[in-house]
Amino acid sequence: MNKLTEFEKYVIEQKGTERPFSGEYVDHNAQGIYCCKKCEAPLYKSEHKFNAHCGWPAFDDEIAGAVDRTMDADGRRVEITCHQCGGHLGHVFEGERLTDKNIRHCVNSVSMVFKPVNELIQVATSTTEKATFGAGCFWCVEAIFAQLNGVLSVQSGYCGGDARDANYDAVCSGKTAHAEVVHITFDPNIISYETLLTVLFESHDPTTLNQQGNDKGPQYRSVIFAHNSQQVDAANAFIEYLTAQQIWPNPIVTQISAFDTFYAAESYHDDYFAKHGEQPYCQLVVKPKFNKVMAKFAEIRKR
Ligand SMILES: [Zn+2]
Repeated sequence: MNKLTEFEKYVIEQKGTERPFSGEYVDHNAQGIYCCKKCEAPLYKSEHKFNAHCGWPAFDDEIAGAVDRTMDADGRRVEITCHQCGGHLGHVFEGERLTDKNIRHCVNSVSMVFKPVNELIQVATSTTEKATFGAGCFWCVEAIFAQLNGVLSVQSGYCGGDARDANYDAVCSGKTAHAEVVHITFDPNIISYETLLTVLFESHDPTTLNQQGNDKGPQYRSVIFAHNSQQVDAANAFIEYLTAQQIWPNPIVTQISAFDTFYAAESYHDDYFAKHGEQPYCQLVVKPKFNKVMAKFAEIRKR
């Protein structure tokens, strides 16, 4: 969760409202994704935005599953909140006939942070794509993804925090906002993002909050850092599918956040499993997990 200013707390946590025409996204028209200020969950796409001349950013659609609705206590208006963290966004109105979808999410600018999708253009013109996942200790996860056909490179590192404290010791303390992640470059013509998601959910327990096995702390959280809106949709759809299958007895707590910056881990972490396969941690934790997952995905392994 991001640290909020006093004014952000007033709006997001105490359901306040910013003054009309005062927010930074009222007349904002760039291409990208509007995310929750508090937890960075993607909420709206730029194509959902329209000018309602009402003084607040207006959207006539939302990213599926991102926004919850609750009737206000006085029964007159419907409040909207972030599905992931419960942060207050604003209100939603129907039947005003402002757009074809006939719906207006009236959202406080201060409840959101905009992420430009420059990477979308790169994805469209190149044959490689990026995927970034947190699923507990990156040693295990890196070893698994590196074996898949179509995966060109896997880097261990940190995402979701500030540059100044992105190093192993600081992240391990659990006091920074970073997650340990693997940063994957893959060829979507050979392996799909959906297949990577399948392997991700097979390689960790997505139902334990801030914990994988004996590894405890927010740095081990289950998280998908999405690089574009297609990845947001794919991740949401996949989690919905898994939830419907009732594979785990507890609800899936995997976060979906918009990718921001990746900080590569110190180089001695790279290929930790390949280089240090005999060390106790690898023997106890990494190897059994690796063998289990690889047995399942034998047909998509590199030959
Ligand atoms: Zn949120």
